[in-house]
Amino acid sequence: MTEQPMVIAIDGPAGSGKSTVAKAVASRLGLDYLDTGAMYRSVAFAALRGGVDPEDAEVVSNLARNIDLQIDTNGTVIVDDVDATIEIRGPEVTRAVSIVAANPDVRKEMRTRQRQWVAKRGGGVMEGRDIGTVVFPEARLKVYLDASPEVRAARRSKDVSDLSYETVATDLARRDALDQNRTHDPLRTASDAVTIDTSDLTVDQIVDAIMGHLP
Ligand code: C5P
Repeated sequence: MTEQPMVIAIDGPAGSGKSTVAKAVASRLGLDYLDTGAMYRSVAFAALRGGVDPEDAEVVSNLARNIDLQIDTNGTVIVDDVDATIEIRGPEVTRAVSIVAANPDVRKEMRTRQRQWVAKRGGGVMEGRDIGTVVFPEARLKVYLDASPEVRAARRSKDVSDLSYETVATDLARRDALDQNRTHDPLRTASDAVTIDTSDLTVDQIVDAIMGHLP
């Protein structure tokens, strides 16, 4: 029997604490970390930069298949030789990303790349929306992080000083609805995932809880 790759899947909505926690878990276990949201953000960035309508499914799928993506563990994101690290977190990309991510051909391409990323390393900590449900249903451990909408919006608005709390909260609710209600690979809790409400927990407490669930 071949050994399954050591994948830790960390899924959940925006502001649930995925990135901080996934990085900390990866560092404790000496594994690499992949932010799959940055991949979808990069496709949205390339579309906007090329003047492509994010709703134009065919053109965006083509773009996703041909995009050169370099996502460094330190967070640097290079899209077709352009440093997009800052811009992929900006409001334009954040508004367009869930439309791009609802495109089944874009998802297929990103899924293939995510599996290749793991195949190259033999494992890793991956954060996203569909890692435990679709990309790695055989993951060693599946974690679903959640928090109240208010806590999630407050966390996000700390990161974006130029937008009001109300704007961030509205954008977040819109993105949640798109991610949860799309036809392909919507945000769902895997039936065998450990769910952690992070609203009142510190990062260390969440990481400890996850480590405690490792088989
Ligand atoms: O995690 P982050 O908020 O950066 O993700 C940006 C968007 O990318 C999400 O709102 C979602 O639309 C999409 N996404 C996805 N599947 C993933 C990761 C992110 O659809 N595995």
